[in-house]
Amino acid sequence: MSNEVNPFESLQEQIDDAAAYLEYPTDVLERLKHPERVLETNLSVEMDDGSIEVFKAFRSQFNGDRGPYKGGIRYHPQVSRDEVKALSGWMVYKCAAVNIPYGGGKGGIKLDPREYSDGEVERVTRSFAKELRPFIGEDRDIPAPDVNTGQREMNWIKDTYETLENTTEPGVITGKAPESGGSAGRVEATGRSVMLTTREAFDYLGKDVGEATVAVQGYGNAGSVAAKLIDDLGANIVAVSDSSGAVYNPDGFDARAAKSHKNETGSVTGFEDATEELTNEELLTLDVDLLIPAALENAINGDIAQEVQADIIVEAANGPLTPRADDVLTDRDVAVFPDILANAGGVTVSYFEWVQNRQRFYWEEQRVNDELERVITNAFDNLVKTYERTDAPSFRTAMYVVAIERVVNAAEEAGIWP
Ligand code: GLU
Repeated sequence: MSNEVNPFESLQEQIDDAAAYLEYPTDVLERLKHPERVLETNLSVEMDDGSIEVFKAFRSQFNGDRGPYKGGIRYHPQVSRDEVKALSGWMVYKCAAVNIPYGGGKGGIKLDPREYSDGEVERVTRSFAKELRPFIGEDRDIPAPDVNTGQREMNWIKDTYETLENTTEPGVITGKAPESGGSAGRVEATGRSVMLTTREAFDYLGKDVGEATVAVQGYGNAGSVAAKLIDDLGANIVAVSDSSGAVYNPDGFDARAAKSHKNETGSVTGFEDATEELTNEELLTLDVDLLIPAALENAINGDIAQEVQADIIVEAANGPLTPRADDVLTDRDVAVFPDILANAGGVTVSYFEWVQNRQRFYWEEQRVNDELERVITNAFDNLVKTYERTDAPSFRTAMYVVAIERVVNAAEEAGIWP
């Protein structure tokens, strides 16, 4: 993440943009722009050599008007209090956009897991779980995976929580391995909603996704699954990147083969079916029909936005465009389909996982995928109706109008507890 733009300020600007289309008093809007509380903690953890290292960690509970706080935990050296606050706010509006009964939260540990052994990462994770224990619970706050965390970390957090609480409560966390109560389809869910949003977007704009050329920035779980499923729609994946660089072939390549290469070598660079290596910025400004930013926030700033040649952007990452980039792309008539819809598949299938955990009754993958498709297509329909009704300048602003109305309605119905 480039820190030239504070993501928390970006979130607040996005809310202000949508507020212009809603008639709420200032006090109501202020509540929508700040977290209810943020836990900041310092984890002292023993390293393999016997030394003690201290890791800064956060959990922001942004808003619980629509249900328990919900959102992932990321491990990244650039994790900060403001980043976690922004990400927790985006979770509130994401859950409201797709109408699942959650508020929003987010956590993070300032740590690059690649620099530590598995045992060290486990001890850091269990130490954070111990700190989180009084704040989380299946009706209180439900963490999940995010950047650099996955089933392994979720299983450790669940085990630590259940051990300390002397209970079984798999719904305290989602994104677990199936053997630990995870849902079928959860790993692919974020990429799947990116594909579904892409399919609906092309259809709405009267374009043929089967003819589209596609560039994907970031080839982790969200980016690589989205690429694979969009490849299956008949589109042509021409460029993909990761933190080591980008690869390009104007004739396109198989998204699955690019992922296998990354799995084998640790990076997409050197992929044999590519004809050229590019920088990340060159990938973002390629002449393609669809661009999918699938890495971290602030990937596209105002300057890069001036050079973007794609007609459509579908955001797989959280917050990949700065507000200035958003303005530039809106002026240039690039259709941007926002993160709070496009990547909402992850939290939506987390919701299905939580439902299954509570019922102790597990679904087949097909049922998960069908229910996810229903949620995303309904949200897309609501988005375009609101876009047309309000005449909002962007799909992002229209999606925030939908989401903010839902949060405010829930708060108003609850009334004020003095
Ligand atoms: N980290 C994911 C997100 O940003 C998933 C959150 C969840 O499943 O709770 O949406």
